[in-house]
Amino acid sequence: MNSIDRGAGDLVIDDVSQDFVARDRRVSALQKTTLRIPPGEFVTLVGPSGCGKSTLLNLISGLMAPSEGRVSFDGSIIRGTSRTIGYVTQQDNLFPWRTLRDNVGLSLELTGVPAKERRERVDEWLARVGLDGFGDAYPHELSGGMRQRGNIIRTLIYEPRVILMDEPFGALDAQTRITLQEMLLSIWEGTGRTILFVTHDLTEAIALADRVLLMSSRPGRILRDERVDIARPRDIFLIHHHPEFRRLFDEFWQELRTEVQIAAKKR
Ligand code: ADP
Ligand code: MG
Repeated sequence: MNSIDRGAGDLVIDDVSQDFVARDRRVSALQKTTLRIPPGEFVTLVGPSGCGKSTLLNLISGLMAPSEGRVSFDGSIIRGTSRTIGYVTQQDNLFPWRTLRDNVGLSLELTGVPAKERRERVDEWLARVGLDGFGDAYPHELSGGMRQRGNIIRTLIYEPRVILMDEPFGALDAQTRITLQEMLLSIWEGTGRTILFVTHDLTEAIALADRVLLMSSRPGRILRDERVDIARPRDIFLIHHHPEFRRLFDEFWQELRTEVQIAAKKR
């Protein structure tokens, strides 16, 4: 076993760099990034577009191995994808030819869960996110917010210990987004699961998180790492009035604005 750390259930990014070569040009996407996330923490990551956020998630998910450094979970180096680490992407990847129920139950189907049990578990999850009655619908018959709920529970249903989410609400309108933020928190609270959630929306980052990370423009580095000292359960609709929210927002915004301006010049 590759035991590089003893923190049970910790997600550890250890001195990780990632380079890409595209059309004879080398792009450094991540530079010497180090990060430790203990089990059960809800961490959000904000940063300008193109700074390496998705790259970091891809590395943690096991889709890619880092150019340098190590990524480990629970004391073992992550090698390839597994059910321990779930990944919710920005676009819903629901299969258009499958009903919502069959999309959400896909992972259970692949692991041989019998049809009756599968149906029960899927319908339970559909109800938890307000999609009861839509199990027989096809993705094109659902709104963007409904599809994204399906996309999220499709991963949550197999209960990964770490859940990576890449701008999952980025394409939704503001009201749908708030509703889904609230839904996500209510599902997550008390589960002890780790979430690493990427967003470019600072309000969302602070509202959801135990801890907010700010990433620099490319090559990405963690510039700021702060705890959000606001009690749970939180009222997502009113949290922007909270003094701690305002303090963090102003602090992060100064730096994020600078990084966004730097990133814009690199394009
Ligand atoms: P973000 O998610 O923060 O917007 P990404 O992690 O997607 O940023 O990308 C960071 C940088 O790495 C960008 O410059 C992007 O073009 C580059 N990049 C990402 N993936 C690849 C890849 N597979 N091949 C080449 N370059 C890539
Ligand atoms: Mg991205």
